[in-house]
Amino acid sequence: MKRGLVSIAVLASACVPYPDDAPQSGGGTTIVSGPFKTLDAGASKLDSLHFTANAYGSESAKRVSTACEDAYGRIMIDTNLFSFMPRGLYQIVVYADKDEYRRKTAQPEWSGGVTVGNSIYTFNGPALGRTLSHEMTHLIFFEYMAKVNIDHRWVNEGLAVYEENKAAGGLAGGASDIFSGVRSGMARSPIPMDQMISLAPASERQYEVSLWYAQAESMIRFMVERGGRIGFSQYLAQLKEGQSFDRAIAVGFPGAWRDLNDFYLNWERSLR
Ligand SMILES: [Zn+2]
Repeated sequence: MKRGLVSIAVLASACVPYPDDAPQSGGGTTIVSGPFKTLDAGASKLDSLHFTANAYGSESAKRVSTACEDAYGRIMIDTNLFSFMPRGLYQIVVYADKDEYRRKTAQPEWSGGVTVGNSIYTFNGPALGRTLSHEMTHLIFFEYMAKVNIDHRWVNEGLAVYEENKAAGGLAGGASDIFSGVRSGMARSPIPMDQMISLAPASERQYEVSLWYAQAESMIRFMVERGGRIGFSQYLAQLKEGQSFDRAIAVGFPGAWRDLNDFYLNWERSLR
C-alpha cells in the first residue's frame, strides 16, 4: 500500500483499513500536509506546544487547541512517553461539518475522522473531542513505533479507544461509557487472545458495538491501570524493539504477569 511521496496512515475513529506504511520518524520538523483540501479562506489557525489547530473562527480554533493539548497530556501520562520527542507540530483540521469533511476527504459515511501522515482531519460535532483523542493516540503510536506491525493492532486500537472513552467521560460501566452496550457480552464470552491478535476488524465501522474493540479497550485499561504506566511504557518499548508479547509483558510488568497468557487469564478473572 505504498502511496507515493506522502506516507499515509489511514486509520481513524471510524475509518478504514490498517496501514502497512507508518509515518517515518526522525525526518526533521517539516509537517507533511495531507492530500486533502483544507479549510476555506478566512479560517483560523492557532499554534500550541504540539499542534496547529485549523478551524473556522478563533474561538473554535482555541477550543480545538485546548482539547488537543489536554488529550495529548492524558496520552503522555498513560504511556509515560515523555522522553519521546515528536518531530514537529501535528496539523489538526476541523471542517465545519460532516458534509464539508466528506466532500474534501472522500471518507465513508460512517467515518468520524482520518489520520494522514501527522495530520488529523475531522469535523465539528458532539463527537469531536472523542475523535481527536482516538486519532491522536494513533498519531503518537505510529510515530513512536516508527514501523507498523500488524500484530500490534489490538494494542494500538485498545489504547485509542481507552483514550477516547476517557475523553467521552466514560468509565467502564458508566453512563457515557462508549462500550456500555457490549460489556456484558464480552464478560460472558471473551475473545481468545490469539484471535484478538489475528482477527482484528477490517474497518472501524460501528466499532462501538464491536466486541473486539470493547475487549481491546478493556485489556489495555487493565494493563495500564493494574500494571502501571511506567511498566506500560517499558512494554511499548519492548514491542518497538521487535520483542514478542511474552517478552514485553515479562520486562514491563515483572511480578505482575509472567507472559501474555498469564496477563490474559488475570484480565479475564478481573471481569468476574
Ligand atoms: Zn482506531
